[in-house]
Amino acid sequence: MKSCIFPTINSQRYAQNKPRNNNSRLGMINVNLSSCNARITNYAKKGWIEDARKLFDQMPERDVITWTAMVSGYSQNGRVDDARNLFDKMPQRNVISWTAMLSGYVQNGRIEEACILFSQMPEKNVVSWTTMLAGYIQEGKLELAHDLFDRMPEKNVVSWNAMITAYAQKGGIETARKLFDEMPERDIISWTSIVAGYAQNGRICDARKLFDRMPMRNVVSWNAMIAGYAQNGEVDVARQLFDKMSERNLESWNAMIAGYIENDKLHDARHLFDIMPARNVVSWTAMITGYAQSEERGEALKIFSEMQRSGAIPSRVTFVNILSACASLAALEQGKQLQGYATQMGLQRDVFVGSALVSMYAKCGCIDNAREMFDEVPARDVVSWNAMIAGYAQHGYGIDALNMLEEMQKAGIKPNDATFIGVLTACSHAGLVDEGLRFFESMEKVHCIIPRADHYACMIDLLGRAGRLEEAKGFVYNSRCEPNPSMWGALLGACRIHGNIELGKLAAERLFELEPENSGTYVLLSNIYAAYDRWEDAKKMRTMMKHRGLKKQPGCSWIEVKSKVHTFFLGDRSHPESEQIYSTLYSLDRQMKLAGYVPNTSLVLHDVEEELKEQILNQHSEKLAIAFGIIRIPRHMPIRIFKNLRVCGDCHIVTKFISKIAEREIVVRDGSRFHHFKDGFCSCGDYW
Ligand code: ZN
Ligand code: ZN
Repeated sequence: MKSCIFPTINSQRYAQNKPRNNNSRLGMINVNLSSCNARITNYAKKGWIEDARKLFDQMPERDVITWTAMVSGYSQNGRVDDARNLFDKMPQRNVISWTAMLSGYVQNGRIEEACILFSQMPEKNVVSWTTMLAGYIQEGKLELAHDLFDRMPEKNVVSWNAMITAYAQKGGIETARKLFDEMPERDIISWTSIVAGYAQNGRICDARKLFDRMPMRNVVSWNAMIAGYAQNGEVDVARQLFDKMSERNLESWNAMIAGYIENDKLHDARHLFDIMPARNVVSWTAMITGYAQSEERGEALKIFSEMQRSGAIPSRVTFVNILSACASLAALEQGKQLQGYATQMGLQRDVFVGSALVSMYAKCGCIDNAREMFDEVPARDVVSWNAMIAGYAQHGYGIDALNMLEEMQKAGIKPNDATFIGVLTACSHAGLVDEGLRFFESMEKVHCIIPRADHYACMIDLLGRAGRLEEAKGFVYNSRCEPNPSMWGALLGACRIHGNIELGKLAAERLFELEPENSGTYVLLSNIYAAYDRWEDAKKMRTMMKHRGLKKQPGCSWIEVKSKVHTFFLGDRSHPESEQIYSTLYSLDRQMKLAGYVPNTSLVLHDVEEELKEQILNQHSEKLAIAFGIIRIPRHMPIRIFKNLRVCGDCHIVTKFISKIAEREIVVRDGSRFHHFKDGFCSCGDYW
């Protein structure tokens, strides 16, 4: 909320509405002085500053009001130097002319010149003082403002409100309240400022007390309360207020929608969004953001195309969120179109949008495009660097990630805690154990960053993959934070790779307590048992899952061909080109066996005959997607496959064989990272 100290500058908005025939307006100059003065003010307000000047020049006589109107007109239209020129030529000036010039400087952010002019003023009134006060506040110089405020010979409600609003918004809520209590008369802006201040600072009870006492309320006061309750997690109270409002504006609807989204009530938000009388970019972006951060990311893309049809112009926040949805969905084609759109809007080199593009390309498997985007952003911040480091990490390019970290520091950007998630992940995926240990150590000692549970999880993963299970276990027990599911999960994953049943059981038991509804734990532990032929124990896990009403998340893989996503499940025969897919797989299988491939049936969970196990293996969703890719993706293009779960050991071996036999480059993004297959090798070096 803003208190209205300045008249608004309307030059842009009215420039379009300008009538063509100038003479009709300038024809009659014989009218009296005061009517001409009024016309100058009026033209300036509408942004027709040249017309104002023409009239000014044609006037046979001018008084101080004429001159002041023209100075003020230039000021309002951002032409401060023209204003000053005219101001210097004025035959006589009064306090209003001085204040008009002062206001020109302040409104255009030229605070030092404002200061000088203010000190030169022969006389000042309450408006001059308040204008200077607003200048300091606008520049964030609250101390100077307060000092000036104390020296004011006379204060009006606008000056008091300016101070209260400034303190309330900058976190000085106690000072704001003190001023509020001291002020001699209050208007609706004073009340609303203090109520909004309490609400924004998480003091919803104090806000409510004052809100209930308010002598009058406007829509801004109501909106502040709605946003405050929503931020405080009391979204139902917010809704009660929303329903009570006699008159709502767009901000009321947006506040309520944002409130539902913040409190994970996406469907309530959607309901309001669907019935709201009008929407702006904030409403669209709120919905897109909500979906992009949920499981229903596809819905974010739908809303975005609806937004485009509606003619609303997306903001950088819209782009960042829609790109994040594309990244999670691996919707590369849509992501590319968004890049084009962002470029059209001149946003590609924007640091926020640019970093989101880096992430999108990296997560869609195009690490080279990600780097291109990164290089194009001129003013990179820590978020851009983190996006690129995380990208290299997910792709298993550990050394590139570490080089990036070094370059980042050389560029004078300090790493933050997210940077180290990327760095430690990079070490983990590339098997750089000693480096990882060193970086972890340096976090606190060199960079003063206290490791969080996620950093510990990275370390457990790093040591666990490398087979250093005891040390990994040490990280769980000796971490300074309460061991969380991702830490135990990393340990369980390592036990699965290295076949440590006892430790695996221990980690799984903790996970059963912490997140009993996660079916992944049961599956992993039963896989560990199955790999050692302990079928009874494996079966027990499956029974336990059934009793708890849990279902294994089905593995699925998808591939985008000409903007259309094709999804495959285990043994899927629903695809129209199913026959071709299976015959391609069959012929590849024969060639692979000639080349020395032996199916690794220990990875099949089911307690069945060897031959059947082989068949089940052969129908894993990623194999079906790869076969489809071989049929439909042109030879010169890499085949990009995405899988929701971790790729299995047998599929990994098979994909290496296929990359050689079929001479294809295959990129697989599984639940945890990327694998680039080429010439019979994988970029992970079989370390995953
Ligand atoms: Zn597989
Ligand atoms: Zn690999």
